[in-house]
Amino acid sequence: MTLNQTHDLSLKSWLASADNSAFPIQNLPFGIFRRKDSNEAFRGGVAIGDSIVDLKAAHKAGVFSMALTPVLKTLYEPQLNTFMALGSSAWSKVRAELSAALSEGASQQAMLESCLIQQDKAEYALPARIGDYTDFYSSIHHATNVGKLFRPDNPLLPNYQWVPIGYHGRSSSIKVDGHSFHRPVGQLKAPDADAPVLAACKRLDYELEVGIYIGKGNDLGQAISIDQAEDHVFGLSLLNDWSARDIQAWEYQPLGPFLSKSFASTVSPWIVTMEALAPFRSQWHRPADHPQPLAYLDSDVLRDQGAVDMQLEVSIQTPKMKEQGRDAERLALSNFKESYWTVSQMVAHHSVNGCNLQAGDLFGSGTQSGTSKDSVGALLEATEGGKHSVTLSNGEQRTFLEDGDTITLQGWCERDGFAKIGFGQASATILPAISQ
Ligand code: MN
Repeated sequence: MTLNQTHDLSLKSWLASADNSAFPIQNLPFGIFRRKDSNEAFRGGVAIGDSIVDLKAAHKAGVFSMALTPVLKTLYEPQLNTFMALGSSAWSKVRAELSAALSEGASQQAMLESCLIQQDKAEYALPARIGDYTDFYSSIHHATNVGKLFRPDNPLLPNYQWVPIGYHGRSSSIKVDGHSFHRPVGQLKAPDADAPVLAACKRLDYELEVGIYIGKGNDLGQAISIDQAEDHVFGLSLLNDWSARDIQAWEYQPLGPFLSKSFASTVSPWIVTMEALAPFRSQWHRPADHPQPLAYLDSDVLRDQGAVDMQLEVSIQTPKMKEQGRDAERLALSNFKESYWTVSQMVAHHSVNGCNLQAGDLFGSGTQSGTSKDSVGALLEATEGGKHSVTLSNGEQRTFLEDGDTITLQGWCERDGFAKIGFGQASATILPAISQ
């Protein structure tokens, strides 16, 4: 992915709120929205400053060139799948024309102003109809921290450094930012108990992850090569893969997570395109004393710019903090560039057996953790399996999450010489379990 004029730091929008916001003119992420509490149809939009460009209205107003009509028509739909399936040249053309129309001095300013909706007057749907959801395990720091809890002498299983590990997740329970869900109920078995009981989860946790949306799919039987992998990726978002650790510990062997994960997942409304992320790519490397990837998971482009320098933050607001008027408090900050496996490796590996990926499929990166205590992306790691608690600034403690807690993920990219871009947020609140 090369840089172009849409990334230029000197580019300014005529919309004043765009400067220094999460959504400057260099970002232009796509989502699905409508006016809050309305009966309007959900439709495609692009975030700019504190507003959303209603793409259907903008198209009808004549903001875009005639040649783009078939592309713009796909953005009238209530999910982005058809647009995603068109491929990167279509996404890039919409971005280029919108960037020009939103720029200072653009002749389209007056007509585009009437197509803006304030974000605080909008509500969102899932950006895509997510056919399949696959969650990876791409942070070696997370895998090591979690592995240590179960196998102190041998935290990493031998396949970890060769295979981008993943499991097939559940897409029906993925919801967009701002929802709430009931604490799950499931089989729990204490280590010293003879038999499990059915009860509300006591060890509810978040997972700080990157969401990866597939754009153009591949035919069944046709693998995607690593150098073509990113042509099949529409963009990135935030993903909280809520996890019931006690249900998970009892059920996960031998086939992996099941009901411990399928009760809820939260995504952010906006998808930041791979093109918008071009300035924030960084080198990927594998330490010399680690196994080097097999050829289908390796390439010069990967080594040169396969990683994404994306800051990831998770914060908590407890019911008491809400009562006290306290803002959410950061629990951890990590960076996706430290991931052991990259987006392109996940795509190449997922399809190497001929599995067909489809537009709107979602990958989770796996919990992104760094090496320091304040960079771990789950409470399971922060509390070493529940052995310690985390103390918040108002004196409250958490080992795992309690009813009423709100967990918010945020993300952003910044680099000297480029505009900082944000991902918005993925936030959700825990409700009490439904009584048995
Ligand atoms: Mn996960």
